[in-house]
Amino acid sequence: MSLALLLDSLLSLLLPDRCAGCGRLGALLCDECRHRLVVYDEALPRVADQLTGVRIAYVFEGPLRHALHQLKYRRRRRVARPLGTLMASHLHTHPLPCDALIPVPLHQKRLKERGFNQAELLAREVARATGFPLVVGPLVRIRATRQQALLGVAERIENVADAFVWKGPAPPARIVLVDDVLTTGATVNACAAALRAGGAREVYALALARSRGHMP
Ligand SMILES: [Zn+2]
Repeated sequence: MSLALLLDSLLSLLLPDRCAGCGRLGALLCDECRHRLVVYDEALPRVADQLTGVRIAYVFEGPLRHALHQLKYRRRRRVARPLGTLMASHLHTHPLPCDALIPVPLHQKRLKERGFNQAELLAREVARATGFPLVVGPLVRIRATRQQALLGVAERIENVADAFVWKGPAPPARIVLVDDVLTTGATVNACAAALRAGGAREVYALALARSRGHMP
């Protein structure tokens, strides 16, 4: 166990949880923030030609935006627990055929900087709640790509093309990729291309959130 994780665990024993959405004491994600979550019902991205299907749970705004910020940039790993549970609930009501959950990998360099992969933490919670197997390792990000947030759609596709490769025996037939935020879908689509090249038959993407008003 890393020192950061050990400290996080010790602090959680000593201090009450603080809501990652609004900051009040009591729970990692309070009931009020849960009620403010907005189900995503807008158009899905069209970029994703390698994907069999895409599921997005919530609109990326309000308490969810705050909570993901706490997880990724304030490095509050435990926030992955309620967020991953929300993704598992979404999967429960909108089922997908799944032989394995695979988180979108970070490049080694980014992983070292952050200390963890938020998509992997979320996927672990989804696996725990659903019983689907988690596969981490063989899907590798071989290129350090630029931040997608700074790029337009065409640039995003180009930026992540061939950034991923499957290094292992044939992957399971039906895979659900897990990521925190999906924007154009270029990243999950590039992962799906690598999985298909490795032999996967159906590849779905499950994301916690997407901003409103993106072009499909
Ligand atoms: Zn709250």
